[in-house]
Amino acid sequence: MENQQHHMVLLSSPGLGHLIPVIELAKRFVFQHNLKITILALTSTTSHAEKRVLDAAASGGHIDIVEIPTPDISSLIEPDAAVATRLCVMMREGVPGICHALSNMADTATVRPSTLIVDIFGTEALGVAEELKMHKYVFVASHAWFFSLVIHSPTLDKQVEGQYVDQKELLQIPGCTPVRPEDVIDPMLNRNDKQYQEYLAIANGITKGDGVLVNTWECLQQKDLESLRNTNLLGGILNGPVFAVGPIVRESDSKTDQGTEWVTHWLDDQPQESVIYVSFGSGGTMSYEQMTELAWGLELSGQRFIWVLRAPTVDAADAAFFTTGSDGGSKLSKYLPVGFLSRTCNVGVLVSEWAPQIDILRHPSVGGFLSHCGWNSTLESITNGVPMVAWPLYAEQRMNATLLVEELGVAVRPKVLPTKKVVDRYEIASMVREIMVVEEDYCNKEKKKNPIRERVKGIKGSAVEALSKGGSSCTALAQVVARTKE
Ligand code: UDP
Repeated sequence: MENQQHHMVLLSSPGLGHLIPVIELAKRFVFQHNLKITILALTSTTSHAEKRVLDAAASGGHIDIVEIPTPDISSLIEPDAAVATRLCVMMREGVPGICHALSNMADTATVRPSTLIVDIFGTEALGVAEELKMHKYVFVASHAWFFSLVIHSPTLDKQVEGQYVDQKELLQIPGCTPVRPEDVIDPMLNRNDKQYQEYLAIANGITKGDGVLVNTWECLQQKDLESLRNTNLLGGILNGPVFAVGPIVRESDSKTDQGTEWVTHWLDDQPQESVIYVSFGSGGTMSYEQMTELAWGLELSGQRFIWVLRAPTVDAADAAFFTTGSDGGSKLSKYLPVGFLSRTCNVGVLVSEWAPQIDILRHPSVGGFLSHCGWNSTLESITNGVPMVAWPLYAEQRMNATLLVEELGVAVRPKVLPTKKVVDRYEIASMVREIMVVEEDYCNKEKKKNPIRERVKGIKGSAVEALSKGGSSCTALAQVVARTKE
């Protein structure tokens, strides 16, 4: 009962990649620590999926949702402003609404909120928490290596001359694996773009929190976590402790993705670990030419597949983020090679725009994931023991792909960046086969082990351990709760 007197507020910025982990973190506080939780959500006006996810979160009756009116930022940004710029401006303009909601709760809620946790785009709201004398934390819904790069970027800004992508040397982050210039996060691709300044502001904003929660776990990223905590290495940039509380992922899609159950019914009829799931997150898109090669690659691989299809774009790879993301229901198959549908109808299915990803990845018939490497998708794959073809498109996904392929050994990736050059059908087929095919050992008449599959299953085990009672992430979350009660 004592815990029920404790009220935490979590703030989410627009985008499913931010909203979903915030809701899942909220559930941990409710179900493991019996806290009262309110989520303040700024949503993008065009996303029906965000609305569905919020409704599902509210429907359990355990979490209060307060939607902050989406500010009109059209006069404040260029029409072609980058996603990160839009998010930062939106969250900044949303501060008065956030302030109003928090003050209102402080005055009227039966339990006064004592803690505000914001995602990395919400750090401007930390000042409001300070005024209201609340504890204030930042939730990094990504991994520790990315977080190290972000908070080290003001230092890199002083050290490095010219564009990061033009550097001949690796970018050094003390105590962490260096970052390849071509792997930098999107806002660092062009230092003259407004999103770069916005990102530096985020890096400074994070230091104003009382601590940071990261969606990773000790065993996965020990070295990076150590360097974040070692004040000598990163120059004491952070004010408070770093808590590795992950992996924080959803358990099921059933409440949000009604109408897509046919996909899992189709999976029920497929052999074990025989299907590759192909999806580029909530907003990823590709060119028509690349889509054609992908279709041919899947067909040539000879593997069963589920492919979440979106209309091709000529613009940015994240073009679907701030559009309705739909081609109005017209047949997406018109973008596919002639005869593709009839030739693959016995082995593959296409899903338009949105699939029940969690239910797919946890299904025993799924044996691989061709993914854009968004961190939520990555964790969802790892926690289900599914190896990946890493196909990074935007945000911090190039770092994620490098981590998956080179450090963890649970994925393969194209030789060139898919955003720079078209990946051809033969390379795609070969990557798909590499993670999917398990050779027969003819001498022993047994199946050989696929090393990538074996490694991802090992990491899945370490995730389960971290989250179990007494495990590192479970303990870290309890420490956060204890501190916010002080
Ligand atoms: N997602 C889903 N169905 C889809 C596409 C995405 O359920 O068809 C979910 C996915 O499970 C994940 C989130 O949307 O939880 C996407 O987050 P991620 O960080 O992977 O990528 P983003 O969309 O932010 O780039």
